[in-house]
Amino acid sequence: MKFETIAIHTGDRPDKAFGAITMPIYMTSTFVFEDVGKTKAGYDYSRTANPTRKTLEDTIARLEGGKAGFAFATGMAAEATAIHLLKAGDHVISGDDVYGGTYRLFQNVMQNFGVEFTFLRLDNRRKIEQAIRPNTKMLWLETPSNPLLNIVDLEMAVDIARKHKLMTVIDNTFATPYLLRPIEYGIDLVVHSTTKYLNGHCDVVGGAVVTTTDELTERVQFLSNAMGTCQSPFDSWLVLRGIETLAVRMRQHNENAAAVADYLNEHSAVEKVYYPGLKTHPGHRIAKKQMKGFGGMVSFEVKGGNRAVKRFLRNTRIFALAESLGGAASLAEQPATMSHASMPKEFREKIGIKDELIRLSVGLEDIDDLIGDLKQALEPD
Ligand SMILES: *Cc1c(COP(=O)(O)O)cnc(C)c1O
Repeated sequence: MKFETIAIHTGDRPDKAFGAITMPIYMTSTFVFEDVGKTKAGYDYSRTANPTRKTLEDTIARLEGGKAGFAFATGMAAEATAIHLLKAGDHVISGDDVYGGTYRLFQNVMQNFGVEFTFLRLDNRRKIEQAIRPNTKMLWLETPSNPLLNIVDLEMAVDIARKHKLMTVIDNTFATPYLLRPIEYGIDLVVHSTTKYLNGHCDVVGGAVVTTTDELTERVQFLSNAMGTCQSPFDSWLVLRGIETLAVRMRQHNENAAAVADYLNEHSAVEKVYYPGLKTHPGHRIAKKQMKGFGGMVSFEVKGGNRAVKRFLRNTRIFALAESLGGAASLAEQPATMSHASMPKEFREKIGIKDELIRLSVGLEDIDDLIGDLKQALEPD
């Protein structure tokens, strides 16, 4: 089965009990045993496993080409669980322009438990190898990164990790398995905020982890159950429904974002556009090689400083001023004060997230309406 078909037909669909074409929502905390020590179908308690969540988990695992999937309450719950594969004294090399909440989890939470982190732009083999210590256990990547849309060369990253016996983890939220299949490059563990493109409708928060070995599967299952970070049946069902249309949505996100990036790139009020689909983007060649499209996110700097940013964000009518991304509705935000406010200002500036930066999540509206909205927001009478 191909991607689009897997997205719709994985698991018990139609369901075995009544033939429902969709997976039912099993809103139950517990499952009645058939006999002492004998469950009906392997389910005993919904923290451990739930049929609706299991169908979602199997679907994501197959879309990523992995061994097993796990669904979590949020993307951060997925990341918090994955990082608990480590223990005090272990060291992680992480991309420096990862999602703001990832940075906060590592820097302000996990560091207190003795896990060490080095944040680095992952664009150079020598630089990465020089940061490896005897206790380095994990390489944590995000590509395209948030919000600068930097591209990590997966072939290079996996090659370094294998040589030094590091586990590789990728946050595949921005690309989704439709555009990028990290496991085919040898990545060990994939994490997602399903809140974004996988669900795709801005109506749920969720996360996922996909494993590649039986050992990782067992360990993530243990942690998910022990930490209780799993997703509710209802929220699992929403994400499952969203995934049915992932491929068509991503094709339209790609098309709309490319048109928006081209438009902004030509505009005199715009200082710089960050979009991996532009030939001038430093990661363009690698993105073209490893991705099936360039995604729906476009960041840009406006001329005229913070005042121009505020004016733009106040003037858009279709692009709503909001954090998050990946939904049908287009969104605009200022990373410095919103999605990346949890990064200290000096760190943010060091890695290139200026106050003038605006991040767009280009949605599924008509492209002429979207460009018209940008035009009137950039050129208010
Ligand atoms: C939103 C996001 C997260 C966190 O996910 P939540 O569902 O908000 O907890 C992690 N990584 C990336 C790249 C994100 O965009």
